[in-house]
Amino acid sequence: MPDATPLTPGITSGRLSAETLSQNFDDLHPAYAPHEAAVAADRCYFCHDAPCITACPTEIDIPLFLRQIQTGTPEAAAKTILSQNILGGMCARVCPTETLCEEACVREAAEGKPVEIGRLQRFATDTLMHAGKHPFTRAASTGKSVAVVGAGPSGLSCAHRLAMHGHDVVLFDARAKAGGLNEFGIAAYKSTDDFAAHEVDWLLKIGGITVETGQRLGDELSLDELQNEYDAVFVGIGLSGVNSLRAAGEEREGVSDAVSFIADLRQASDLSALPVGRDVVVIGGGMTAVDAAVQSKLLGAQNVTIVYRRGQDQMGASRFEQDLATSKGVRIIANAQPVAVHGNGAVAEAEFEYTTTKDGALKGTGETFRIKADQLFKAIGQTLEAAPEALKLDGRKIAVTGAGRTSVKGIWAGGDCASGGDDLTVTAVAEGRDAAEDIHASFLAKTP
Ligand SMILES: Cc1cc2nc3c(=O)[nH]c(=O)nc-3n(C[C@H](O)[C@H](O)[C@H](O)COP(=O)(O)OP(=O)(O)OC[C@H]3O[C@@H](n4cnc5c(N)ncnc54)[C@H](O)[C@@H]3O)c2cc1C
Ligand code: SF4
Repeated sequence: MPDATPLTPGITSGRLSAETLSQNFDDLHPAYAPHEAAVAADRCYFCHDAPCITACPTEIDIPLFLRQIQTGTPEAAAKTILSQNILGGMCARVCPTETLCEEACVREAAEGKPVEIGRLQRFATDTLMHAGKHPFTRAASTGKSVAVVGAGPSGLSCAHRLAMHGHDVVLFDARAKAGGLNEFGIAAYKSTDDFAAHEVDWLLKIGGITVETGQRLGDELSLDELQNEYDAVFVGIGLSGVNSLRAAGEEREGVSDAVSFIADLRQASDLSALPVGRDVVVIGGGMTAVDAAVQSKLLGAQNVTIVYRRGQDQMGASRFEQDLATSKGVRIIANAQPVAVHGNGAVAEAEFEYTTTKDGALKGTGETFRIKADQLFKAIGQTLEAAPEALKLDGRKIAVTGAGRTSVKGIWAGGDCASGGDDLTVTAVAEGRDAAEDIHASFLAKTP
């Protein structure tokens, strides 16, 4: 029996039994059985100029892979997917398909029920990966070497494409494990059974990629040294800093950033040992806010509230994600901004002010309210840290043009740390892949 219950005050572990926790954190979208997949794929009209392809940042030939599933060749379907998106397995689990391919699907417009592209992509990629196959072979060695810094989706995708072309890649990461936010950020119920780590192992089967963990750009690594040692450098370090609330009392015990809480949760071997508050407040409106809130609830928090400063329709989290949160019992309060965190040492209440938008500017109305809180998560966006000084910035990101070219010749960047594109796994994969192709083309251009 658990030691605590959802009603136990304060931040404590063991609010729910191991059995309940395992049910709560089960796969969000269970895998299709083969006959279900064939029936679901059969709903596709195999459109000419298919809008779903254009809506996919990696431009997977969706009607082709659906046809391959329908005709009973899921491994061929997987190859179609993976040739455009080597992390097609993870993207099938985490992509907000409701705002990408499935939103664009003509069956969504006609019937409000799109072809379930994400789940079908998962069926195909899982089939191939369970068979232990890697569908690509590495070209003969070119003798060129590339340093890829950051082993998240952008770095992994870049490294794989470079290795396929026969270049030698060293993939550096500051953390002890590769995978980036696939390993440390994505909600646990989207990536079950250690899928992120399995996918990295599977991807590395291409050969030609050496992974070096515990190597941080700015500490163990310098851009100058990498430029001297390698023929090209790709920077895919994501956004590892967190924004502050700028509300009085934010240093109180019980206030922390949502990304760290999620990383701890993803790495926990026993969820019943992970402490969570009884009254949890999450500040923010993106996927991170929703993931922190939903997972707090699933761990056994009694009351979980998301507070977002603008209107609910402006939240970064999609409507599907918002509905997921409310279906789990999370309350969403829109149009309110944090003013202060109150308590005697530890947080006891969070104070907010209602907001309104006038002439495009967000303003407080002066009317405030308080919410009881023993744990408060900040989920108000991540920031770029340790960006090499030599690289020009565009706003708060590394400035890139074309396929990830930075302001310094021979250095490319992509994923969340680079300008342009949405901060999504699939976008990071596309940018890493495209930078790799551009690096490869630059090598060919130099070959006499
Ligand atoms: C909580 C959370 C949930 C999310 N959920 C989703 C989702 O459901 N669907 C979706 O599409 N997107 C989601 N995202 C966004 C998605 O995870 C990112 O867009 C994606 O991971 C970006 O990939 P990346 O390779 O650019 O960076 P990251 O995944 O952040 O990887 C960067 C890597 O670089 C390493 N690194 C950082 N600094 C250094 C340094 N100085 N030197 C060396 N290595 C360094 C890091 O350790 C990390 O491994 C989520 C993000 C968060 C924070
Ligand atoms: S838009 Fe929908 S129906 Fe048309 S090809 Fe894409 S998945 Fe099939």
